[in-house]
Amino acid sequence: MSAEPGRTRLLDALDRRAEQGRPAAFWLRDDDVVEPTDALHRFLNLAASHAIPVTLAVIPEETGIALEAYLAGREGVTVALHGWSHRNYAPATEKKQELGPHRPEALVLSELASGYSKLSALYPDLMLPMLVPPWNRIAPSLRTRLGSIGIECLSVFGPEKDRGIAELNTHVDVMDWHGTRGGRPQDVLFGEIAGRVETMGEGAAMGLLTHHLVHDEAVEHFLEALFSLTAGHPGCRWMSASDLLPSV
Ligand SMILES: [Zn+2]
Repeated sequence: MSAEPGRTRLLDALDRRAEQGRPAAFWLRDDDVVEPTDALHRFLNLAASHAIPVTLAVIPEETGIALEAYLAGREGVTVALHGWSHRNYAPATEKKQELGPHRPEALVLSELASGYSKLSALYPDLMLPMLVPPWNRIAPSLRTRLGSIGIECLSVFGPEKDRGIAELNTHVDVMDWHGTRGGRPQDVLFGEIAGRVETMGEGAAMGLLTHHLVHDEAVEHFLEALFSLTAGHPGCRWMSASDLLPSV
C-alpha cells in the first residue's frame, strides 16, 4: 500500500479525468480579507506562481483603499462579499452566525447591501455577485431575498443543494479548526479532494477553502504540494469563480 494513499487516489482520479478528456474544475476561496498583510502577500504569490486564480472573501465594514491599492494590477483575483462586519450575533449556546435569524431580516439585508455597494465601488472589475456568509451559515429565509440586493450566488461549505439561490461552494477546508487550529494532514486533504473529484456531477467544481491569516507551515507546504501536483495536470483545471458562477 502506498505511504500516501490520498495523494495516489487524487492522481488516479485526475489521470482518469485526463483520459476521458474532461478535466475537473477546481477553484480557490480565501476568507476574512480586510487589508494587505505579509500573510496575504505570501498566499497570493504562492497561488500566482502556479497561475491559480483566487476569490477573496472580503469583510466590507473595515476594508478600504489600502487593500484596493494592493490588489490593483494583480492578475487572477476576484472579490466576493463576506458578510458586513463578521460579528457573531448568536448566543454562546449556538454556532457563530452573523447572518442568522437573531436580528430582523431587513436590518441584515441593509447591511449586506451596504457592503455589496462598498465593495462594488472599490472593485468595479473584480466584484462577483456572490455572498460568502461568515462561518458559512445564513438564515434559510434570507437566501431567497438576496436577489433583491443584487446577489446572485451563495458560497458556503459542503455539497451544493437547491436551497433558493444558486451555490458555488467549497468542499475541502485546509484548517483543523477544532483540533490543532493549524493545517490538517496533507494526505487526508489529498484524499478529500480526490473524493470530491470522484463524486461531483457534470458542471460541478471542487472548491478549496483557505484562511490566509491563520495558515501555518503545514498549510503552506500542503498548498505548494497541491498546486505543484495539479496546476499542470491535464485532468485538472483551476478556474476563476467568475467562469464557474451558476447561471441564474
Ligand atoms: Zn470568515
